[in-house]
Amino acid sequence: MTNGTGRFAGKVAVVAGGASGIGLAILRGLHREGARVVCGDISQERLDGIAGEFDERVACTRVDVTREAEVEALMALAVERFDALDCAFNVAGASRPGYIVDLAESDWDFTVDLCLKGVFLGMKHAARHMLGRGGAIVNIASLNAHVPMHAGAAYASAKAGVEMLTRNGALEMTPDGVRVNAVLPGLVETPLTRRHFENRAALDAFLARIPAGRAAQPEDIAAPALFLASEEARYVSGASLLVDGGWAVTGYPDM
Ligand code: NAD
Repeated sequence: MTNGTGRFAGKVAVVAGGASGIGLAILRGLHREGARVVCGDISQERLDGIAGEFDERVACTRVDVTREAEVEALMALAVERFDALDCAFNVAGASRPGYIVDLAESDWDFTVDLCLKGVFLGMKHAARHMLGRGGAIVNIASLNAHVPMHAGAAYASAKAGVEMLTRNGALEMTPDGVRVNAVLPGLVETPLTRRHFENRAALDAFLARIPAGRAAQPEDIAAPALFLASEEARYVSGASLLVDGGWAVTGYPDM
């Protein structure tokens, strides 16, 4: 039943927000490397769209990561179905943008609930299956944890929160065998960012700030996320790994 050659052979993982973009690339990587995986996503349409791509080593289920009972059930499904939970990837995220002076309370709540509370719930209920027996949690934050974005106060604040939640999780859980790390992507071409790629001038403005000269593809983010969950990263906990093509180190424009 397992692909005996990959880094994740014999391992069981959950990807929350796994039916699109970065989460789907993580799911594909885990499957390719031998894991059994539960993929949770709020979009049944997206789950139906990917289910046929995988064999019995992947189980897809609908979940809203902002609802505690659903997240608890998502993590429990991995144990019921595949007898363990070794790795959890908290990936689901989106934002309702708006400048602070105009931002509706409901839009703030939507973004912070999804991007920050969702990660907290994922960590909490994954860790309950891992503490004392070992495991790895990888949270997807953002470069915006460090860099503010126009009309993005709720999103950037939530992502900064994810970084601290990761460090706090590492403090609390590493002594009991659970490593907790974060990946901070820059600009990634996914359905979430489609509008940036449809506007050439906007895309050029982004690319001018990215030393790598291109946006990331989801696989560029999945690879370091898988590394952090793997045995290769056995001594890494509480880390924030920027995966942004060098965007964060861009200083003054070239004169
Ligand atoms: P995406 O829209 O392609 O995928 C996100 C997935 O999360 C979707 O399948 C969506 O249905 C799911 N989802 C949304 N709300 C959910 C909920 N309440 N419960 C469960 N699932 C839910 O987006 P992406 O670009 O792959 O983003 C993945 C993560 O990466 C997000 O946390 C995002 O903030 C972060 N990120 C993305 C970029 C980028 O440039 N794309 C950059 C930095 C960080």
